Amino acid sequence: MNKKIKVLFTFPPGMVGKPITYCLVKDYDLWVNILHAEIAPDKAGKLVLDIEGREEDVERALDFLACEELQVQILNGSISWDEDRCLHCGACTSVCPAHALTLDPVDWSLKFDREKCYVCKLCTLACPVKAMSMPI
Ligand code: SF4
Ligand code: SF4
Repeated sequence: MNKKIKVLFTFPPGMVGKPITYCLVKDYDLWVNILHAEIAPDKAGKLVLDIEGREEDVERALDFLACEELQVQILNGSISWDEDRCLHCGACTSVCPAHALTLDPVDWSLKFDREKCYVCKLCTLACPVKAMSMPI
């Protein structure tokens, strides 16, 4: 049976060059989609991936990653957008690191690409009318 997870990796300085995605594909036969990657000025890094593959391969890969020096956080849950409440002000688009929130260039309405979202919750803090939320 296949399993799909969304994972946030936090790399300590000096480890950003480690070929994690390559290992996941080559050694664990997983399908990997990079949703977000950033390197801070101190050379620490963040990487958000969608990972999909056979359940046992995903579990083996997580065991391998647990042995590495990086932090691994499985991103559970999803962000809820209350379209009726939304004012389409665009405030959330400027804080979204995944570019999951954008304003339509034609009618300036908010578009939410849930596939890109990695549940950082920044939009829930930025929205003035609480249209973005994280259901408990
Ligand atoms: S939680 Fe909000 S700000 Fe964070 S990635 Fe998802 S849509 Fe963007
Ligand atoms: S910040 Fe809130 S009200 Fe403004 S566009 Fe985003 S979801 Fe809509």
